[in-house]
Amino acid sequence: MPLKETTPRPAIVWFRRDLRLADNGALAAAAAEGRPVIALYVMEPDGPDGLALGAAQRWWLHHSLDALARSLQPHGVPLVLRTGTAVDVLEALVAQTGAEAIYWNRHYTPQRMATDSALKASLIGRGLEARSFPGALMHEPTKVRTGTGGPFKVYTPFWRAFGTQVQVHTPQEAPADLIGYAGSLQSDTLADWNLLPKKPDWSGGLADAWTPGEAGAQERLAAFCEGPLDGYSDNRNLPDRDSTSRLSPHLAFGEITPAQAWWAAKEAGRIPHGDLETFQKELVWREFSWHLLANFDDLKTVNFNRTFDAFPWADDEALLAAWERGQTGYPIIDAGMRQLWQTGWMHNRVRMIVGSFLVKHSLIDWRHGEKWFWDTLVDADAASNTASWQWVAGSGADAAPYFRVFNPVLQGEKFDPEGRYVKLFVPELVDLDMKYIHKPWDAPPAVLARAGIALGRTYPRPVVGLAEGRDKALKAYKDMRGEAA
Ligand code: FAD
Repeated sequence: MPLKETTPRPAIVWFRRDLRLADNGALAAAAAEGRPVIALYVMEPDGPDGLALGAAQRWWLHHSLDALARSLQPHGVPLVLRTGTAVDVLEALVAQTGAEAIYWNRHYTPQRMATDSALKASLIGRGLEARSFPGALMHEPTKVRTGTGGPFKVYTPFWRAFGTQVQVHTPQEAPADLIGYAGSLQSDTLADWNLLPKKPDWSGGLADAWTPGEAGAQERLAAFCEGPLDGYSDNRNLPDRDSTSRLSPHLAFGEITPAQAWWAAKEAGRIPHGDLETFQKELVWREFSWHLLANFDDLKTVNFNRTFDAFPWADDEALLAAWERGQTGYPIIDAGMRQLWQTGWMHNRVRMIVGSFLVKHSLIDWRHGEKWFWDTLVDADAASNTASWQWVAGSGADAAPYFRVFNPVLQGEKFDPEGRYVKLFVPELVDLDMKYIHKPWDAPPAVLARAGIALGRTYPRPVVGLAEGRDKALKAYKDMRGEAA
């Protein structure tokens, strides 16, 4: 249909990891210019950011796209789904619709940054208006710099620089008025993308735990600000309670921006300063992870500290499988790994404990842990997952000192003192006396019998001895550094 002289030509708003209407710079720009909006999501052959999605995130993406389509619908803007490389899809859509503007929000994997800048140059070269907007992060990773002009490698100075170099933007409301594109546009059908698991359908636990989409994200944020934010500093390490925001998958898909979380927490009222600052520091850990990934391209696969290239990792598939399935015989680890499998999420404290057990007691390469998390986490995030695994392994930027080996029994007793978290995810141990909940192998036979536990049959014996595992890890570290044992 020919457009009237006065109607600006359409804008394609290309949605990626920004599946929201509010605080969406690309959408707001199209709306402010009064352009008819073509909302587009492209299923790219290499995955959204040059990285194939894991199974848990495929489930999430399905529901998040569905939610986005439903929130665009009342504005008369259908969500167009297409498959192909972004450049081909965009060019075809421009040719078909006469769109003269293509807007998107920036994303910072090295692959995405490279393809985005080539794409932008090519579109501008063809006389189109191609613009990208911030929002996924609160800082621009290529702009915040140390005194000598380089990227940061240590969190604390990054946090300080964040305070002086970054002005966290005030989040924008969702545009009140959007104009839909009047022509008809072919779209794939979401169901045909086969993002949901086939039989057996393992996604029931995910559906019980989460509401993907912008409305679900906003509800989480509001509930957190009204509840657990007060007391966050003290409680955030306790995995048996709802003491953290659980915003991570919503942030990973851009259903909410970190700036929205930052300001909502700040404006929550009557929140002790310590709780607010601790929460904001966590949001800034996410920024720091992205800062690292954006500035060190091969962070996902290569040891940040190259000394670790010589680390003598063990190749033990049985041990890796026991860890993945939550069958290590260490209750806090098994609870964490089962929480991950059932709900697609694991408490941060427990991520550190299971990570340390894998790379230290079991001597398994952190990249195996990263890969399993990538497939099973609903919040799998290219930067935070990689940076955190390298942190746990000791190979990362600002990593934990290698000799700090978490003891899963002591960690369990400290952070899950009543064993409530363990009992939630390891039902075999539900009747075990609290005294032994983190070390069932120490329980006298009569206690085990009373709890209906037969070690090695109803619940595994430990797959690795703690002292033995720790000694081996420390020896491997010394060997790597060429130190005498
Ligand atoms: P809250 O405590 O409410 O924190 C608020 C937000 O701050 C989080 O949503 C997250 O965006 C950010 N944040 C908190 N802690 C960290 C951290 N240590 N590093 C980076 N950002 C943080 N987080 C991911 O989002 N995706 C991952 O793939 C991921 N993989 C991890 C792997 C390992 C081995 C470890 C130890 C940590 C990993 N984390 C990852 C970090 C952290 O565990 C999660 O961000 C946090 O548990 C999410 O829960 P929450 O939203 O309730 O956090």
